[in-house]
Amino acid sequence: MKPAPFAYVRAASLDQVFDLLARHGDEARLLAGGQSLVPTLNLRLSAPALLIDLNGLDELDGIALENGALRIGALTRQRTVEESEEVARHAPLLKMAMPYIAHPAIRNRGTIGGSIAFADPAAELPACAVALGAQIEVQGAQGPRTIEADRFFRALYETDLRPGEVVTAVTIPKRTGYRSAIAELARRHGDYAMVGLAAHARVDSRALADVRLVFFGVGAKPVRAHAAGVAIEGSEVDEASVAAAQAALAADLEPVGDLHASAATKLHLAGVLTARVLRQLAAWVR
Ligand SMILES: Cc1cc2nc3c(=O)[nH]c(=O)nc-3n(C[C@H](O)[C@H](O)[C@H](O)COP(=O)(O)OP(=O)(O)OC[C@H]3O[C@@H](n4cnc5c(N)ncnc54)[C@H](O)[C@@H]3O)c2cc1C
Repeated sequence: MKPAPFAYVRAASLDQVFDLLARHGDEARLLAGGQSLVPTLNLRLSAPALLIDLNGLDELDGIALENGALRIGALTRQRTVEESEEVARHAPLLKMAMPYIAHPAIRNRGTIGGSIAFADPAAELPACAVALGAQIEVQGAQGPRTIEADRFFRALYETDLRPGEVVTAVTIPKRTGYRSAIAELARRHGDYAMVGLAAHARVDSRALADVRLVFFGVGAKPVRAHAAGVAIEGSEVDEASVAAAQAALAADLEPVGDLHASAATKLHLAGVLTARVLRQLAAWVR
């Protein structure tokens, strides 16, 4: 199928974007990498009157260390994030997540900001952002604001973005002594996850602290498993502590079955991933 007809503007500045969004409202859509938007246009699931192309806005692109944090511009391609030495050093979870996202051709175009703004509940990057305690920078005609990632994702494909606002960057605090891990189960490599888990924790001696376990593919948005995190907090990773974290998942997760798996299967797979991810964290400790 071909998309419904639309007008197209390649924006020359953020101010022009804000002006177009103010004038066209719901009739306009932002175009970043196009890897989620274009399929929805081609399938006519969406038929905006105007596409506002962000790809000329160099100020939204790039990775930098600023004020003790790693700042990744919204338009930075997923492939660039995957290959960045700064990301590997300061936010390795993002590098580890990238091979799970589709295929290289899609990551060559897809952007970090597009994935965060689209907020697919089975996507890797929103869960990583929550696990890393990232902040989402947004900007509109009223000025910039910063939102904690775990407040940014609100419901199914719904974020804290207000009408007229654009995601401008993702900022990750630099922390020492932390370790990351990620695992997911999908029917085929590159598919969205049936269930996935992104984890970030501090390693004190051999014990885990400040454990942030964030599931994707089990709810309407990234789900932080607080009870499982508490269950493993202060413990070394061994059979008993892994079992305690797995048992706690029933209090954290209320998966809804979908085309790929029933709710019970998803809960079981979440337990499998919890063991895998905690062992990945422990492999570094020893
Ligand atoms: C075959 C296939 C497999 C895929 N598999 C996966 C997968 O396994 N995991 C995964 O996470 N993703 C997957 N994706 C999606 C891919 O990661 C997309 O690149 C990503 O979801 C959207 O990024 P984009 O830059 O392409 O955004 P676009 O498609 O351009 O935009 C997506 C939405 O976000 C809005 N938007 C974009 N940028 C901004 C911004 N800066 N501010 C505000 N709103 C914005 C757009 O208006 C649109 O509504 C897959 C895509 C395809 C085609």
